[in-house]
Amino acid sequence: MTVSIWQANDTQPVREVDFLVVGAGLVGCAAAFFAAQAGRQVVITDKADVALGASSRNAGFMITGLDIYYHRAADRYGLPVVREMWALSQTTHAHLHEFARRGSVPVQQCGSLLLAESPEEARELERAARALNADGIDVEFHSRDPLRRGYFAAIRQPWDCAVQPYELVWAIFRQSGAELVNNNELYAIRQDDAECVTVYTRQYIFRARHVLLCTNAWSPLIDPYFIGKVIPTRGQCLVTAPLKHGPVLGVCGYSDYGYMYYRDTFDGRLLIGGGRKQNKLLENDTTDDRITEPVQRLLEAYLREKFPDVDAPVERRWAGIMGFSADGLPLVGTLPGRPRVGFAVGFHGHGLALGVGTAERAVDMLLTGANPGAVSAARFG
Ligand SMILES: Cc1cc2nc3c(=O)[nH]c(=O)nc-3n(C[C@H](O)[C@H](O)[C@H](O)COP(=O)(O)OP(=O)(O)OC[C@H]3O[C@@H](n4cnc5c(N)ncnc54)[C@H](O)[C@@H]3O)c2cc1C
Repeated sequence: MTVSIWQANDTQPVREVDFLVVGAGLVGCAAAFFAAQAGRQVVITDKADVALGASSRNAGFMITGLDIYYHRAADRYGLPVVREMWALSQTTHAHLHEFARRGSVPVQQCGSLLLAESPEEARELERAARALNADGIDVEFHSRDPLRRGYFAAIRQPWDCAVQPYELVWAIFRQSGAELVNNNELYAIRQDDAECVTVYTRQYIFRARHVLLCTNAWSPLIDPYFIGKVIPTRGQCLVTAPLKHGPVLGVCGYSDYGYMYYRDTFDGRLLIGGGRKQNKLLENDTTDDRITEPVQRLLEAYLREKFPDVDAPVERRWAGIMGFSADGLPLVGTLPGRPRVGFAVGFHGHGLALGVGTAERAVDMLLTGANPGAVSAARFG
């Protein structure tokens, strides 16, 4: 991120802060909550406002686990890491339920279905179900399509939920008790002395004891450390007008290895997201959050093919920028040479599954030196 000498000449007022969170999305607001619980005086700052990044542009699925099937994740990361990430996801959901309950935000326990788009994916799902069951996770495998929409098999996770993500993040922010400084882009961070970090933003120069970057997709624009570790990646959705005959799904559906997803909204519309698999060149490595025609065309074709009973028009389309991590796991750590500047980023399209538990670990790491475990960025050396 660069700022011209005309936009800011580093003469902004200086503010002393105990714990500064940068990024007021789901993860930043949760981090603010945990830091306040630990007795810190917290300020959150954002270049825009609360939950205007990916945290309010997602599909609102609270699906447990990682974004790849359980047995594949075990092959890639090893079983201990996969079990730890499953537990982190459960912790995240427990926190989200508490935040939602205290903030009167509706959470619908509709369950999720991981659905197979091909016979090959059906075999993958069967293996995933076996691996999950072997670990004592009680998912149900369906060898036929429970939705009767042409899928080949499914795994049901009955405890998964759907939320209204924008309301949820605002509820977490309110519960944090933190002060918000919005419309305030960060453009440089320096740690010149052992006790204090200097953070240059449009409105203030903060002098903070601790700084936590929760800037997800935009992190590589803030510090070169994140280049190649966090890849900004566009995700897109569309939603129909309210359906005449009510919801058609009653579940969060997730298929084609997570590249397609769909749910009913609480006001009776059908939401469809995804479409990135066939458009990776266009959708990967970008912070441009405009919708693109090929993806929207694909989403609409999917809507008409899989849901021929839905004749409502598409009423809204949007895009958001996710922070994919280089290896698919979130990253928690401190910037090289700046031990008071922590980060919790790289949620790989699964922030509602992993973000809050990861934020808790990041705050703990920064304040007590605790090891963040499998999400530790130390794995990148
Ligand atoms: C279309 C789509 C569908 C998705 N569906 C799901 C889903 O169903 N379930 C799920 O678990 N996840 C889903 N995700 C992913 C999920 O939304 C993210 O993982 C999650 O929101 C990440 O939260 P965050 O707080 O880290 O990031 P963000 O919400 O993006 O917050 C980052 C914040 O940092 C701020 N910021 C950036 N740079 C600066 C700066 N220089 N100075 C100040 N502030 C700055 C931004 O303004 C932003 O508010 C989806 C994402 C998209 C885009």
